[in-house]
Amino acid sequence: MFVKELLPEIPHTTINQYAIRNGCLKVQLKRINHYGICPCCGAVSNKCHSQYIRRVHDLPSGGYRVLIEITVKKFFCAEASCICKVFCDRLGNEIAVYARKSNRMRKQLLALSCCLGGNPASRLSFCFHIPASPSTMLRILKQQPLPVFDTPTVLGVDDWALKKGEEYGTILVDIKQHQVIDLLPDREATTLQHWLEDHPGVKIITRDRASAYADAAKMGAPKAIQMADRWHLLKNIREVLKKILEKQGSVLRQAAYLLSEIEEQELKAENHSVNFSESSSTQVKNEPADKYALLFEEVQQLKAEGLSNRGIARRLSISRNTVNSWVKQKSYFRPHKLVLSATEKRWGYELRQEWDKGNNSAKQLWKHIQDQGFSGSLSAVYRVIKKFPQQKIPLPKPAITNWTNRKVSTLLFSHRDSLNEKEQAYLKVLCSLEPKLEKARQLSIQFRNMFTNKKPEKLEQWIIMAINSGMVELKNFATKLNQDFDAVEAGIKMEWSNGPVEGQVNRLKNIKRQMYGRAGFDLLKKRVVNSTYS
Ligand SMILES: [Zn+2]
Repeated sequence: MFVKELLPEIPHTTINQYAIRNGCLKVQLKRINHYGICPCCGAVSNKCHSQYIRRVHDLPSGGYRVLIEITVKKFFCAEASCICKVFCDRLGNEIAVYARKSNRMRKQLLALSCCLGGNPASRLSFCFHIPASPSTMLRILKQQPLPVFDTPTVLGVDDWALKKGEEYGTILVDIKQHQVIDLLPDREATTLQHWLEDHPGVKIITRDRASAYADAAKMGAPKAIQMADRWHLLKNIREVLKKILEKQGSVLRQAAYLLSEIEEQELKAENHSVNFSESSSTQVKNEPADKYALLFEEVQQLKAEGLSNRGIARRLSISRNTVNSWVKQKSYFRPHKLVLSATEKRWGYELRQEWDKGNNSAKQLWKHIQDQGFSGSLSAVYRVIKKFPQQKIPLPKPAITNWTNRKVSTLLFSHRDSLNEKEQAYLKVLCSLEPKLEKARQLSIQFRNMFTNKKPEKLEQWIIMAINSGMVELKNFATKLNQDFDAVEAGIKMEWSNGPVEGQVNRLKNIKRQMYGRAGFDLLKKRVVNSTYS
């Protein structure tokens, strides 16, 4: 019968009847076997004790939830010495003992909970007609055993924060398969050491330069090659550059100031040439009233076309308040007409004389007329000088860019060709002011080139140069590299990197945040390691 094909395989059953009610397909089955096998001793028994109805949910069919009701028998055990006096009949491999959900439905719920966690998975399960509560979702996930992996030959190790600044764990990744193998509850050397001792066969260990992992690898897998990760090494040299720049704050500011002066001079020269060439044609141009009147016309036109006020404001890059008021107006009139009081007019002549002499500072002008008996406010002076011809007002200075340590360290670490003109100019000014920075730049670029060109033989020479550079920060960095020389050399030479580990740490963080910090280490581990489902 067709309905039977839709159900999981349950041996020795026939369909009694089925019906659809309230969005649920209910199928009644009956077991037709006359004997049962005792789960304790394996004896076959045909002595029936009683029968009961067992309800099991299954995957949906045609958009209907499916509920299977099976009449199941209980038998007396035939073996007198068996501890099971009475046992229930078993329902095959598709339905587990005591289970209220078929195995295939449980598998889908597991996939959902592994991907999404408790609450979101529960919400989605209702949409998929396999309803389950958030706690069921988490229970299914917790019951799932962790997968067993072969010990990887290339192992990536890194730390991750369960609670930043307080609790940290360790992630272990098979670099070849890009698969998380295990999570350790802390980042202590002994924990990793024990893990490595329990899983012999690791040949290469990629790690950052944390000494705990170096010690653990040395003790737990002494034959394995240790590899310092190149991403971390390059990050470290950037940090060294930042530390060097921290001491050079005044030089950075001085360079920024000099650069802005150069820009200002260039701007002045440019402006002068433009004024000179266009002086005859620009005299009648740019009447402010005309400009706003045109804009007003444009607003009216767009409104007539049916565009919203917000849309007009966005298209013309003007404020919404302006659009709102203009849309209500019939014709354009110029707002903010300047009306001067009699006193302001009296002092206007004096101000204009000073203005023409080249004194364009409102505050200075105010002081000047105050000395002569003016008792008005500074804003009155502003209102008057607003009417004066503005040509004599000096050009605005170009804003001094805030060159932060972080930004400058990126500049120092980049190829000059990849920088824009302004950045190149700044770097030039900066390095001419402080030759040490030029030296640090060259050393950091040489360090990076060792990795890009795979030249481990240059490492020793680089360490000597950095130690003798005269910069404490570079010296300390080089000394530490020297202590971990073999791992760093392997990091330059070998093709492996900690990239997949960083990616998995990112995935872990994502999963952790999805759970709003409510899940503990064990649940997090289940979701991260059971990556088949997520
Ligand atoms: Zn038995």
